[in-house]
Amino acid sequence: MSMADRSKRKYYDSLPGMLHLYKKLGHVDHFTGYSVEELREWQENERKVLRNIIGLDRLYSALDDEASGYSYSPDRWKEMEIVSPEKGIIRKKVIFEVDKYTFMPMYVLEPEGNFSRLYYAFAGHQGGGKESVAGVREIKEISEKIDFFNYDYGLKLARKGFTVICPDPRGFGERRDASAQGDNAAVLSCSCRNISNMAIPLGLSVIGLLAYDYMRLTDYLEASGKYDISELSCIGFSGGGMQTLFLSAVDRRIKRALISGYMYGVKDALLLLNNNCNCNYVPGLWEHFDMGDIGALLAPIPLVIQSCRDDHLNGERGLENVYEQLEIIKKAYKLMKAEKMLIHDIRPGGHHFHDEILTADLLSDKG
Ligand SMILES: [Zn+2]
Repeated sequence: MSMADRSKRKYYDSLPGMLHLYKKLGHVDHFTGYSVEELREWQENERKVLRNIIGLDRLYSALDDEASGYSYSPDRWKEMEIVSPEKGIIRKKVIFEVDKYTFMPMYVLEPEGNFSRLYYAFAGHQGGGKESVAGVREIKEISEKIDFFNYDYGLKLARKGFTVICPDPRGFGERRDASAQGDNAAVLSCSCRNISNMAIPLGLSVIGLLAYDYMRLTDYLEASGKYDISELSCIGFSGGGMQTLFLSAVDRRIKRALISGYMYGVKDALLLLNNNCNCNYVPGLWEHFDMGDIGALLAPIPLVIQSCRDDHLNGERGLENVYEQLEIIKKAYKLMKAEKMLIHDIRPGGHHFHDEILTADLLSDKG
């Protein structure tokens, strides 16, 4: 750029330099091996790296159970009310004590008389947290978002006979921090920004806090025997897909995963689109990984990735930005001879969940 051109500019923004830095510094831990042994070693090492980056190990050690036997304590699981949203399904409201300072309200949907495989169904943005995923339509604004995004996948899984836990993610629903609290339209808001602001200077992250909450829940279910977690599965759309991806990457107790609307290259989707919610941004993450690398940590568990053709969150190159990440994940599944365990489900339209995938064999007991 000539000096004359430079002087004509109205703004001198950071993006060009950041793109250069991303190219120079980004995803140094990308898998470059050729054998399944190399892949397994890479996965083991990089899970540790990822746990460290998101602050998970620091959270666990700082908030370790203070009294022996705490994991088993029945007092951590408080059932508040039981409603039948429709014939054949029981909906329990549960307040789960994550640790002595943290509480996680959840809906538990149980098909009557049937305790089949357990799913965690995670909520993304703009749905009022667990309400939309569990299909609770008492608030007009939430009901509209359920229809708009097809958000009630938790309820739909329960209708298929699965037991489904729909937690409020941190910053959503009943877990909103002060700045996002309120009724009516405010129920759709979240406090990810506030949580991120509190977490990052401590070397933590929103993603790490989310994974921590769900791992503590799994610890409790495992210790108490309340539900069989031997086939624990996760599903989530958008920010719920983000939670599914990262939790499944760091916790091998997750045995299958469905990620809808959250798999794309970081450069297009989170660097060029740099105004996305703060929960997406983890210090140090891009230095080590692109998103497909994190997906490759899931191999060989059954994994369904759902992408919509016109999802604006894919970035300016659309599905091209998704296919590149899928290639990274496919390489891992292929090396493990588990190609059939990976499905890329491409659907028309913008950013929303498509129900059809709920019938995939990979998600059911047939898978
Ligand atoms: Zn967020």
